[in-house]
Amino acid sequence: MHLQVREADIQDATTIMAREFRKSTALADHDLSHLQAAFDPRATKTVCPACGAQVAPTTTTCPDCGLCIG
Ligand SMILES: [Zn+2]
Repeated sequence: MHLQVREADIQDATTIMAREFRKSTALADHDLSHLQAAFDPRATKTVCPACGAQVAPTTTTCPDCGLCIG
């Protein structure tokens, strides 16, 4: 996306874009704390990056939320 605004409007544009991002993605209501979870195939247990469920590293789909992790 490319957006061109006057320099004086940068703050307002940033605020509006942040609001629209939260509104269109609903990410403000979503728990993103597991987003940085790394998938390590050597680990005995790993964590689904979407829901945080404990999953076996051999699993290709999270049994809790259905995210494809394999
Ligand atoms: Zn999951």
